[in-house]
Amino acid sequence: MISETALRWGGGGSIIRELSAYGAQRAREVGPENVFDFAIGSPSADPPPTLHAAVRRLMDFVPPAELHTYVPAPGIPAVRAKIADYLNRSFSMAYRPEDICLTDGASSALALLCRVLLAPGEEVIIPTPAFPEYWVYVEAMGATVKAVPCLAESFQLDLAALEAAVTERTALVILNSPNNPSGAVYPREDLEQLTAMLSRRERELGRPIYLLADEPYRELVYGGTEVPFLPGMYPDAIYCYSFSKSLSIPGERVGFLALHPEAAERDRLFDAIQGAMRITGYLCVSPLFQLAAAECLGTTADVSVYERNRDLICDGLRRLGYQFPEPQGAFYLLLKAPEGDGRAFSRRCMAEDVLVVPGEEFFCPGYVRLAYCVPEERLRRALPAFRKIAESYGILP
Ligand code: PLP
Repeated sequence: MISETALRWGGGGSIIRELSAYGAQRAREVGPENVFDFAIGSPSADPPPTLHAAVRRLMDFVPPAELHTYVPAPGIPAVRAKIADYLNRSFSMAYRPEDICLTDGASSALALLCRVLLAPGEEVIIPTPAFPEYWVYVEAMGATVKAVPCLAESFQLDLAALEAAVTERTALVILNSPNNPSGAVYPREDLEQLTAMLSRRERELGRPIYLLADEPYRELVYGGTEVPFLPGMYPDAIYCYSFSKSLSIPGERVGFLALHPEAAERDRLFDAIQGAMRITGYLCVSPLFQLAAAECLGTTADVSVYERNRDLICDGLRRLGYQFPEPQGAFYLLLKAPEGDGRAFSRRCMAEDVLVVPGEEFFCPGYVRLAYCVPEERLRRALPAFRKIAESYGILP
């Protein structure tokens, strides 16, 4: 019998994919330069030259039998050691190589951890707006999401609401900063308060409440904004990282999770992750890209292009009368729908060949998400279309 759970998540079309298909069709009709696709969060910066140099060197000098073979599921030992060392130097931590587990991007780290940490009836607290795939990972396990809306306008954490959301059924909290889709970065004071509250609740409940720190956008921050390292504040935080955005290699599928050496159930957790990998037929991350990514630790693609894009689009849209919180990180902007309906606003934009995703997809009604990880030219050329849309809503100053 075909799994109803799998059907539930596989049958329906994704709005982002629908928008992209529509964009491709319109590009054939009116020319690609006249279609302004801001739907997908795929990095536009080229990978750094160090990445290509590392791949070339590995291809030339490592025997093919070593490069294309199966490697241990949690990763190549030398790669795990380099990652642990990098985290320790960067964040004053004490990870050991065996605390690191290579994963197929941050997605598989999150999906594996949900599989390992959740049982039917348990609850997962997620501040919204948020990445919708979390719901898939959580609900596939029979657990439920307790969405806790962030503060209006700023999209910062509502600490009182988060505290009120913790119950005896809370198993996990998922935090994503810099945030997709809001571009918000949660400040140190808020994270300290949140982790202090979770530690207190752990003691009261007599069991761990795990915190998944989903940080594929860690390096994409503007104006010197700090991204505090959550596991430094809370041993039951599991760090989920990806090289997709920092090295602009989303298709290569390289990321890792890091278990805090002092996590409450560290050894059982590690064994369960290995088990979840077997259950899902997960063998290993491409050795070529594990090795190449490990050589690039501490380097990134030229992410300054996103800061320039952010400044350009924020300035342009502000002059046209649009409202939005200025993103501090990632490469997304949440634009307020002038009449309060994100879906209607997205459709209105579509009529001008501007493709933006309704905020409703990210549990953020009344907004649309604009991904500005695109060539700068596309942002400039889209401004007249945004002007026309602003005129039609009567918001042009
Ligand atoms: N988490 C967030 C918040 C994301 O936006 C994404 C991708 O867009 C991911 C996780 C997954 O990324 P990947 O699996 O490529 O690392």
